[in-house]
Amino acid sequence: MAEIIDGKKISQQIKDELKERAAVLRAQGKTGALAVIQVGADPASCVYVRNKKNACAYIGIESLAYELPEDTKEEELLKLIEELNQKEQVKGILVQLPLPKHICEDKVIQAISPKKDVDGFHPQSVGAMTIGEPGFLPCTPAGIIELIKRSGIEIAGKHCVIIGRSNIVGKPMALLMLRENATVTITHSKTKNLPELCKQADILIVAMGKPRFIGAEYVKEKAVIIDVGIHRDENNKLCGDVIFEEAEPIASAITPVPGGVGPMTIAMLMSNCVQSIEEG
Ligand code: NAD
Repeated sequence: MAEIIDGKKISQQIKDELKERAAVLRAQGKTGALAVIQVGADPASCVYVRNKKNACAYIGIESLAYELPEDTKEEELLKLIEELNQKEQVKGILVQLPLPKHICEDKVIQAISPKKDVDGFHPQSVGAMTIGEPGFLPCTPAGIIELIKRSGIEIAGKHCVIIGRSNIVGKPMALLMLRENATVTITHSKTKNLPELCKQADILIVAMGKPRFIGAEYVKEKAVIIDVGIHRDENNKLCGDVIFEEAEPIASAITPVPGGVGPMTIAMLMSNCVQSIEEG
């Protein structure tokens, strides 16, 4: 029986620590707001934006909501970001992705001041992470590092296999695991011998976006399995990229879906916001 890594509990611990840090900062007169920009009304984005506002309220950080219509022009969005870059009280700027097709996401990400880039997606933040300089870390991979460490699992010297090479999960995950002294293998859709490689992983991180794809044949005895995927199955139930009931008996520890990686992403966003307020 594997240990079930409880992301809900760990994210709550982190949020409680952040609440205390925010209170200390407030007492020193240091406050700040997170500006959350949403373009259009994609239902999933609405849920994420609401959760972010609620997390700010819980921790005691002001949140400013900018709900723009679907047909907002790219230059209007860029102008708003520039205004927020200049506003002293705004310490974090988050543009909810995906954006409507007529807006270039890269341009928008690059318009955010790296000092307020609490999503950690700006090329300057990515560069800083790559060479180990201070900066904002992307929330999902940083949350996974916290999940592993706070579960008492050693990373240094372990072989970590990552499935997926996206800019928001797979690639930064590889860099952060490398920073923790893991030996890292990155796999992707063109990888030829996926089961064989995965079976060598002490820590297997799955971010492929394929519902219930990873079964027993991918899992090494006593491996740690981190499932980043989130999907709705045919019964509208949440599931991950991993076939939990196949992987769990073989693994030593595993994240469930829901209640594993998911809650960590917002906790780490809040951590970046508190860091930004601290840094003034
Ligand atoms: P993505 O679609 O951008 O990337 C998927 C990656 O998986 C690609 O790099 C691709 O090469 C690889 N891949 C696809 N099929 C493969 C195959 N058959 N074999 C090997 N590799 C394969 O997705 P993403 O944005 O990185 O997200 C991945 C999953 O994680 C999605 O389900 C997403 O919803 C979820 N996600 C969850 C959170 C969270 O907070 N829990 C955050 C971000 C993403």
